[in-house]
Amino acid sequence: MATTTQQNVLIIGSGVIGLTIAHVLTSQPSHNYNVTIVARDIPTEGMDSQAWASPWAGANWSPMGNYDERKYKWESRTFNKLWDMIPTGLTMELPTRAFFADLSELDNIWWKDLCREFSIIENEPLPLNMKAGVRFTTVALSPISYLPWLKSELDSRGVKFVRQKLQSLQEAAVIGGPDCIIVNATGLGARSLIGVEDTKCYPIRGQTTFVYAPQVKECIEVVSDLDPTSSSGHATYMIPRVYPPGTVLLGGTFQPNNWDTSLDVPTAQGIFERCAAVEPALLSSETKILSYGVGLRPAREGGARVEVEWIDVPGESELVPDRESLGDKRKVKVVHAYGFGPAGYQSSWGAAEDAVQLLQSS
Ligand code: FAD
Repeated sequence: MATTTQQNVLIIGSGVIGLTIAHVLTSQPSHNYNVTIVARDIPTEGMDSQAWASPWAGANWSPMGNYDERKYKWESRTFNKLWDMIPTGLTMELPTRAFFADLSELDNIWWKDLCREFSIIENEPLPLNMKAGVRFTTVALSPISYLPWLKSELDSRGVKFVRQKLQSLQEAAVIGGPDCIIVNATGLGARSLIGVEDTKCYPIRGQTTFVYAPQVKECIEVVSDLDPTSSSGHATYMIPRVYPPGTVLLGGTFQPNNWDTSLDVPTAQGIFERCAAVEPALLSSETKILSYGVGLRPAREGGARVEVEWIDVPGESELVPDRESLGDKRKVKVVHAYGFGPAGYQSSWGAAEDAVQLLQSS
């Protein structure tokens, strides 16, 4: 039960970002927050919905793109957190090989000290005309077990879940009650949520094939494919999954501004062929295709938005003309946390800590 001294927090969004923020916020048993998560899609009920990204991810820790201070902090914090979880069975160690089309890309591996056992591949043939390769050990999780775990942790801490689509931040403020703080963790939903309407948000379409292939033990990534400016939109990777045992996610595509969530059959064929070209063990009769997936990575021009905004919420007198005495305009604090694109899992703990710090700052 909420007491009068508790701070009401309403989190919009139950993807990995909203859930991790709620987890960090309620991690101290003595915390003083009354947390409600309102979301259209919620773990365990909406895992096959393409309206959110979190169920469709790889999800391994493997940074992309150029260095920036914020990304370095989020990725390093999250790597350590996920690595420490390995004994629980929720995450696993994942030996990885990554390949690059250009030797100069080796100069841009700012994350090599964050993972384990990093080395440059030398004196070995490289697949698909690649010019350079590296080996490292990283960490991976399976969204279908990890998201329900996050939710069950929050259930046990008394966090309330409401399955509902909201039209606007104002609606959230009304549900949250007087003096609530709102956290906006809506992913691509930030583009259409009234009061946010962030047109910098865009999807990066990712098509995948989920297989049973227990003989594939190693993650392989053709990193040069994961380039938003690449015209092919192809990405070649395979990520063995911690759960269900023996399964592997094959990818994929990396198609910015493509909203199409339907399955493209020639693309599925291409994914399997490219993956088998880098890992011939996939051609074994042990391999079984289990399902196909299409998800939209919730990207944002300029990177994720993690910042505070104060919004004006109209009083009821403005919303309902006949009820002039029922309240006036008020200011509501909103902590935005969306736009993580292809890196929502691998940034999640570090970004959630920053969001909570913003929530707690005066
Ligand atoms: P989402 O998971 O999209 O959640 C948004 C939440 O907001 C949902 O609960 C939704 O219902 C809710 N919502 C939105 N609008 C409203 C509204 N108006 N009212 C109420 N609720 C609303 N990341 C990695 O770190 N590593 C990987 O290996 C990786 N691989 C990927 C592979 C693919 C194919 C794809 C598609 C993604 C991959 N990602 C990976 C990216 C990762 O999945 C996302 O970055 C992450 O899931 C984003 O989480 P989120 O919580 O911000 O958004």
